[in-house]
This record gives sequence, structure tokens and C-alpha cells, in this order.
Amino acid sequence: MYKYAGIIVNNNSIQLDKVFIYYIPKKLREIIKVGFRVKIPFGVGNKIIDGFIVALYEEYSSNSNIKEILELSDEYPILRLEDIELIKFMREKYLCTYLEAIKVIIPTGIIKGINRKTSDVIYVGKNLDGKYQKENYKLIYSLIAENNGKYNKNEFSKKFGVSLSSLNTLLKYGYLTTEKITINRYDERIFSSYPEKVLNKEQKYVFDRIVNSNNNNFLIHGITGSGKTEIYMNLVNNMINNGKDSIILVPEISLTPQMVERFKGRFGKNIAVFHSKLSEGERFDEWFRVKNGEVKVAIGARSAVFLPFNNLGLIIIDEEHEHSYKSDSDPKYNALEIAQYRCSIEGSKFVLGSATPSVETYYKTTLGELELLVLKNRADNAVLPRVELVDMREELVANNKSIFSKKLYSEIEKSLINGEQIILFLNRRGYSTFVSCRKCGFVFKCNNCDISLTYHNEDGILSCHYCGSKRKVTNVCPKCKSKYVKYFGVGTEKVEQEIKKYFPMAKTLRMDFDTTRKKNSYETIYNLFKDNKADILIGTQMIAKGLDFKNVTLVGVIAADLSLNLPDYRSAERTFQLITQVGGRAGRGEKPGKVIVQTYNTENYSILNSIANDYKNFYNQEISIRRDMGYPPFSKILLINMSSKNENLLIKNIQNVGVILKNILEHNDKIEMLGPCPCAISKINEHFRWQILLKGDINNKLANDIKNTVYETLKEVYTEIRVSLDINPNSLI
Ligand code: ADP
Ligand code: ZN
Ligand code: ZN
Repeated sequence: MYKYAGIIVNNNSIQLDKVFIYYIPKKLREIIKVGFRVKIPFGVGNKIIDGFIVALYEEYSSNSNIKEILELSDEYPILRLEDIELIKFMREKYLCTYLEAIKVIIPTGIIKGINRKTSDVIYVGKNLDGKYQKENYKLIYSLIAENNGKYNKNEFSKKFGVSLSSLNTLLKYGYLTTEKITINRYDERIFSSYPEKVLNKEQKYVFDRIVNSNNNNFLIHGITGSGKTEIYMNLVNNMINNGKDSIILVPEISLTPQMVERFKGRFGKNIAVFHSKLSEGERFDEWFRVKNGEVKVAIGARSAVFLPFNNLGLIIIDEEHEHSYKSDSDPKYNALEIAQYRCSIEGSKFVLGSATPSVETYYKTTLGELELLVLKNRADNAVLPRVELVDMREELVANNKSIFSKKLYSEIEKSLINGEQIILFLNRRGYSTFVSCRKCGFVFKCNNCDISLTYHNEDGILSCHYCGSKRKVTNVCPKCKSKYVKYFGVGTEKVEQEIKKYFPMAKTLRMDFDTTRKKNSYETIYNLFKDNKADILIGTQMIAKGLDFKNVTLVGVIAADLSLNLPDYRSAERTFQLITQVGGRAGRGEKPGKVIVQTYNTENYSILNSIANDYKNFYNQEISIRRDMGYPPFSKILLINMSSKNENLLIKNIQNVGVILKNILEHNDKIEMLGPCPCAISKINEHFRWQILLKGDINNKLANDIKNTVYETLKEVYTEIRVSLDINPNSLI
């Protein structure tokens, strides 16, 4: 019999990031288990807070006075045994706290007290008699009889205009009764069925390998439109037939209505959908029905990797190269690593899929850690689109100053005449991305951030894409008072305007952060375009993934170089991925597709290889650069970022940290330290930003030593300096 419990307390302080020991009262010993949430007295004032049981002990010797658990917070353990291991794994690997790891595993609402939603619905009771046979009571009685168990008091009163006091009277004397029912907050819409397709030869081979081989770890490298989704569905089906559960992860951005339609159309209501736009209640209910074994399949964005299936057979990660699988906030986990860890512990198949695998993932296939499965052809006999490169420098020479090259212009014209649809891609929103004075060089910058402001023509404002602050435009330079204020840099809003100028008859839709803020706006734009209500869809990377429109024959990439100019070792890879993915939206139906790529970098290997559709060649060039430069997958990066409103205090402290780390690493020639130095964006939201970048053979032990050192050094200035430790971060700026 266990008498003591190890508990993580619900308190965010880093000093309390440890396991506390509590005494288990006799009345709880029979029922208590690891994973339960409990109420405990904590601190000098014995404030009652939540704790999470992560261990149980028969004996425990201690000199200090051990406090006692008060009661259970829930009727069931909210963490699984496997979750406890996962929490330790995350804390060690991502340098987070226990509590941060717990909070990402359970639905956020739980801690605030969110639970299943119930309602006391009304039924008819005994027959009306005596003085209660009045007309108004008869009417209510018959209305309830028609709607037995459908409404609670308030709903009924509102819907039928019946007074609450009459209802209460009838309830009081038993003419009406109530019953508590549970309300499901998940989406119960039924979609038209998405019929199963007979797998083609390539698909069949891939499916068979995954199902039949003893191997558990796979990468499906299949070109865009090769039918990866169909394979996923067949795998899920196979799991269902074997009584096992599946998780399908897709990037948030491609958790499109189309994706949900397909999966709900194939698997019916019994599939949980998990994404960031769910309310806390919806989130809880989806989580609960997974936990309760009511569904066998879940599809969702990053955090769905934690869903508590009890018999997990399969995790699929679609578009595995997407950066959104890595979290930027604590715990800064990578869903690929979590998934692989879960699969190894729970004995499940781990399947990655992409048309443009990340260099890190592909490298693993060469080491034999993942089995490579290839799909070379489009599934429904569609052919890959023809891709043409346009040198924008030549356009300038030919005196074409428009954002459309002659080639793109004439192709747009042709498609419009043929009644075919067009997608134009530019990975930058707004109208002009840079406003400055031609006379004195003044640049309009955000007051809170070290960032130039973007002009949005629709609202006539300058806006900061980092802190969201807004400012009215002026046509006079604030510095020299001249009137030579000019707008540079093109965004999606401008592309749309230019289209309207040159092709006034064309109907356009725009899909970017600005047009998709409202809850269903993404779905609306998607459906309009799908139903052929518009000719041209203009968008940012939101349109690059997953969309399968049969009538799109032309894709135009307005500026392929944008992502090349980022100060990041992955910029070539990102460029290759974006161009390949966007191009893959063309020619998915019977008509062949065409892609026009506009660029100033016609010789760049990432652009050339994406145009030639040569992943392998791109990979070979990229991996050798990574090897030479010592970047991942040949090293790990640990980015230590510190920020503060107080610039002097920040500099003083990060320099102090820098000196200490230099000492620790003095005899370690496997690790390179860059900084301390100001970040590329040296101020965001009034906070100054500095960083130290460590690169090399950084194992968990060393990373944790560094973490402890950093926190110890900054102990006195916690409240004034924010610290972030990020292993292999998405962004180095
Ligand atoms: P991917 O996910 O690889 O980009 P999709 O799964 O979207 O590709 O498939 C592309 C198109 O091919 C879809 O319209 C899909 O319905 C169709 N498709 C997939 N598999 C088959 C098949 N075996 N036979 C016929 N059509 C298929
Ligand atoms: Zn000026
Ligand atoms: Zn700002």
C-alpha cells in the first residue's frame, strides 16, 4: 500500500519546479493512482492548490513535516502512466518545467475548472389534475410532450415564450421532471462520404511495407498529388480493423475544411478534430472522448500529438517538413520528436510524409533510422505542371516595371480566357512593406520595435507585423518635412490591386493573415474558390499547402527570392519547399498545369532544383553545405535569448552569462559560442533583445547544466529580464 505521493504543484515559479512529497490519507489509499490531480495545502499559508501525482512510494523518510493530500480533483487520473515518462523526457530535452510539460499534455481548460457540459432537460411527468388543468398549463404540458428531453428550463422558456414561474410550478408538483444529460461540444456535422479509392501500384507498395514490415519508422517521399492522403486513410482503416487508434498530424495551416471534409467523409463522426481555433470547451470534449475510447482516430495540429489514446497504433505526420511542428513557446517541443518517442514507447508505427522532406528527416533515411518509401507519380494520372523561370532583371532591362513579367501576364490572360483558375503566391502581406523618404532616407519604423512598418492600403494605415501597433500615414517626412515619401516592397494586397488594374473583369480572392482573422473566413474563401466563384486566388504561404483544386491550371510565384534573403541556415531549404509546394497546386485535374516562377536569382540551386523537380539533387547540395558549416543535422543549436525593457541591465547580465558560459565551455572544442550580441530584430514590443547562440554537440546533460547556470546567474533579476532557451529553434532572429 502506497503511503506517499510525489507531486508536481500547479505553480509557475521556476524555483518550485521539483517533485514534492505528500502523505496519502487512509481514505484515498485504495483509489489513488499516478496521474491523478489532487488538492493539496501548499506554502507557509497552506493555500489549497492543485497538484499532479507523478510517483507513489511505500515509505519515505524525512525530517521535515510532510503535509497531507486533501482530496482528488477529478474522478479519473488525467495523466496516463506514459504521460509521466513523457513529461520527464520533455523537461530534460526542451529545458522546460514539469508544469509546462503537463499543461501542454492536458487541455488548458482543465486547470481553470472546465469540465463536461451538462444540462437539466425537461420531460413530462404525471398527468395534469385538479386545479392544474388550466389552459396555460395544458399548453405548456403539450409543448413539453412534443419536445421531451430537448430543452432545459431557460431554453424552453425562451423558445416558446413560457414564463419560468409556470414551469417551476409544474416541476415542483411533479407534472414535469428533469434529467441531467451531457452536451457534446464537438462538431457533429455529417459530411458527404469520401469514397475509398483503389490504391495504385506505388501506393499499394507503400501501404504494404508500412503494414507488413517489422520496421516501425517510415518516411513517405511522394510528389505533390501522389495520393499520400489516400495512403494515410488506408493505414488508419487498417488500424481500426485491428482495434487500434491513430493520430494524423497536419500543419495548422493545412487543417483546411478540405482535409476535415475528407477525413470526416471517410470515417464519419467518430474522428476527433483538434486545432487551435477550438474553444476550451470543445477542446476538452474532444480530449475527453479520446480518453474515454469513444473515438479511434484524431486529426489535428501540433498539440494533437499528446492525445491520450490508450491503444495507439499509428502516428502520421503529414507535410513533416513544416516548421509549425516545432513550438516557439514553452515547452518548445518538436512534435516529430514527441511522436517518435511515443511510438517507440507505445509500440506504434511512425509515418512521416512530404513532397519536400526536411533535410534532417531525409538524412535519417540515409542512416537507416527511417525507411524511405517513394511515390514518383501523381495518383490520378495527372502530370506534374511545367515550370518556367522568369528572370526579373531582364524584365527591368526591357523596361517592364510591373510586378508581373510579360510571360506571367500573358499566361494569366490565357487562363482567364479559357475559364481556368489561377493561384498567385507572394509570401508577404500588406500593400507596401517598406515606406521611406527619398530625400533624407528616413524609414517609417515601429515605435516599440526595431522593424519597418508595412502599409495597408485598405485601412490606410502603417502597421507593425510584430507588435500589431498601428499608425496613420503621412505624406510628409517627419524628419525633413519633404514630400518625397515613397512606398517600396510588394505585398499580397498590392498584387490584388494590380490584378484589378490590369484585368478588371477577373474576380479575385485574397487569402492571408489579414483576410482570415474571423472564425470562418478561411472556409468561406476556400469554398468560393472551390465553387469557381472567383478566377484568381492571391495568397501567402497559407495557400501553399494541401489545397486540391481541379480547375487551377496556372500558378504564379511573384517573388521566389523572398525567403532566400532571410539570415538563417535554412533559407535555401525553405525556398525549395515553398516553390515546390506552391507549384504543386497546379494541374491537379484533367488539364495540364503551368507554373511561372519570377526571380532575381536565376542561378540559385534551391530555385533551380525546385524548378527541375529534383529533390535528390537539392538534398545532396544542401547536406554537404550543412556538413561543412556544422549545422543541423550535424549539430544542435541552443539559442539563449534574453529581453528586457531595461537595456543596460540586459546587456550587463547577458555579458555576465556569456563570461560564465565561456568558462564552462573553455575545454570543449565541440561547441561553438556566438555572442552575446543584439538579435537581428533588436527590439520587439519595447523589449530590447540580445542572444547567445551555441552550436555543436550539445547533449541533454550539458544543455541542462547550461540552463541551471543561466537561471542561477539571473536569479536576482528574474522580474526584469525574460529568458528563453530554445533547442533547434525555428528562427534565429
Ligand atoms: P497528396 O496528399 O500526395 O498531395 P492527394 O492525396 O491529395 O495527394 O491526392 C491527389 C489526388 O489524387 C486527389 O484528388 C485524390 O483523390 C486522387 N487520388 C489519390 N489516390 C488515388 C487513386 N488510387 N486512384 C485515383 N485517384 C486517386
Ligand atoms: Zn525626409
Ligand atoms: Zn511593433
